[in-house]
Amino acid sequence: MKPTVEYIQTYFDAFNRQFFGGQLPPLPVKLSHAKGFLGKVTFVRKRQGWFGGYRNEDFVLRINVRIDLPEELVQDTILHEMIHYAIAVRQLRDTSTHGRLFRAEMARINAEGHRHITISHRLNEEQQAQARVHKQRVVAVVRFADGKTGVKVVPKQEKHIRYWNRMAPRRFPIESIDWYLSDDPYFAQFPSSIAMKIFIINKPEDIPQGIPYSL
Ligand SMILES: [Zn+2]
Repeated sequence: MKPTVEYIQTYFDAFNRQFFGGQLPPLPVKLSHAKGFLGKVTFVRKRQGWFGGYRNEDFVLRINVRIDLPEELVQDTILHEMIHYAIAVRQLRDTSTHGRLFRAEMARINAEGHRHITISHRLNEEQQAQARVHKQRVVAVVRFADGKTGVKVVPKQEKHIRYWNRMAPRRFPIESIDWYLSDDPYFAQFPSSIAMKIFIINKPEDIPQGIPYSL
């Protein structure tokens, strides 16, 4: 799943009640498409007067929606970031990014809530493979007039599919285009785009069967 802002806010509220006594103040939630992290809490450390210390303010919770992930992992990511938030909003300083305070909270919530929060901000290899497997792609299997077969992966949006289906026969001597939906990792090797580029497949019998997609 790819969560919406509303979904994240709903779970923030529920987890806040369940694990933090409802004491975490609400904060802005933003969706991110950046590479390299699942979630992030950002804030500003502001100086308080001349002799005062610093105060953490202007918190924002960012959750990555670049890849489709199992719901369990999305929720654990929200919880992971809520632990960072709980520490910072209480003006505490941990021994490191995922230091003593973080690990104690993580252990408590994992035990109380039967969760699987980790100290990682990235997907492990198994999760990455899973994310790739579950990705549904729209695939055009193209038969050329000379008997060759090609493959093209198009972004999963009706307008892009229609555009490509209309334009490709104007550019290439095409006999037929069959459209499929497939979550087979085989298709991960082809870039998803609307470019008029078709990858010739030397052994067409290797192309996995997908679900026919009608335009
Ligand atoms: Zn973290």
